[in-house]
Amino acid sequence: MILIVDDRPENIIALRRILEKHQFEVDSALSGEEALKKVLKNNYDLIILDVQMPGLDGFEVAESISGYSKTKDIPIIFLSAVNVNKQFISKGYASGGRDYLIKPFDPDVLVLKVKTFIKLYEQTCALQNMQQVLVEEIEFRKQAERTKDEFITMASHELKTPLTSIKGYMQMVDRSVDRDLKEDAKKYLERTRQQLEKLNILIDDLLDTSKIASGKLEFKNRVYEIDPIIDNAVDIIRQTFPSHSIIKTGEAGAKVYGDQIRIEQVILNYLTNAIKYSPFSTEILFDVSLLSCDEVMINVTDSGIGIPKDKQEQLFTKFYRVEESSNRFQGLGMGLYICAEIIKRHHGRYGVDSEPGKGSSFYFTLPVYHNQEQTLKS
Ligand code: ADP
Repeated sequence: MILIVDDRPENIIALRRILEKHQFEVDSALSGEEALKKVLKNNYDLIILDVQMPGLDGFEVAESISGYSKTKDIPIIFLSAVNVNKQFISKGYASGGRDYLIKPFDPDVLVLKVKTFIKLYEQTCALQNMQQVLVEEIEFRKQAERTKDEFITMASHELKTPLTSIKGYMQMVDRSVDRDLKEDAKKYLERTRQQLEKLNILIDDLLDTSKIASGKLEFKNRVYEIDPIIDNAVDIIRQTFPSHSIIKTGEAGAKVYGDQIRIEQVILNYLTNAIKYSPFSTEILFDVSLLSCDEVMINVTDSGIGIPKDKQEQLFTKFYRVEESSNRFQGLGMGLYICAEIIKRHHGRYGVDSEPGKGSSFYFTLPVYHNQEQTLKS
């Protein structure tokens, strides 16, 4: 839109007619003051400014417009019938004008100039936008690089911890063998095995995370009864953490369609988290139910540290760890992200209900398998 600023309405009407004939949208202001208000409120592509006006004159208006960051690049053309000598013309350019036309002017020349300045202005705006996008993109890259570096440091630390323990336990095994202490040797070998298992899970999680990123996480889907899979996962946890009791209630009594190893992975993850983030409690509740015959729902409830409300939404995103507890517990923030991906791929739902200091209840659902159509859909 073009803004015409002139204290004489007849001048505005004449100019408006010329410009509207060439399909330009036109707005007008009868004083410098009104023009300044309008430029701050609206978006103009060009301003045609009369020089001599009561109150603020054209030069003062142009200086103000050039001073606002929002309007500084809008091209200004001065029009004057009175102030025609060189001194005025240079003042016009100095105050921010792009051109200085003297009345009477040739309407065709004016239209040509208007078109050229508007084109230039559009190109300037496009360039500035592109520059802004580039600056943001560079910043986002830089940010990604920093996150990657932090992650590598954390991952190396997480991998090194079980490795250091393994080294220590192996020395103990050697010593026990030297002293013919068979039982001790067995004990240290068991601890070594546990650390190796930790290492294995970490490496699997790292591989899964990178497979998700490249869209290569594979699923071996088939129809199966869910209850034995659940029981098996709960048994694994009971054997791995004999110090904790997993109180299981309910049964699904249903079939689901999907990758049972991956579903077992989700259950193991929920349960190990429940144990890990409950340092002062040894009881975990595990409930299975059937919702409206359509969904199997699994709930894992602990009485652990809990999670602040404002952090709950981000739990299932990649590498996210709750800051308040991240120093106290080891981890890389990949487990729940992988769980979310697996559940989504099975068309299930997931979430958490938690209160800091009281505990958390993590759930996920899986659609019950009814007929073959479901397998074809996925
Ligand atoms: P990790 O345990 O390796 O950090 P996860 O993806 O499994 O990664 O979990 C992400 C974050 O969610 C954890 O860092 C922790 O802050 C929080 N969290 C997960 N499970 C629980 C839980 N049962 N109780 C409290 N916080 C939890």
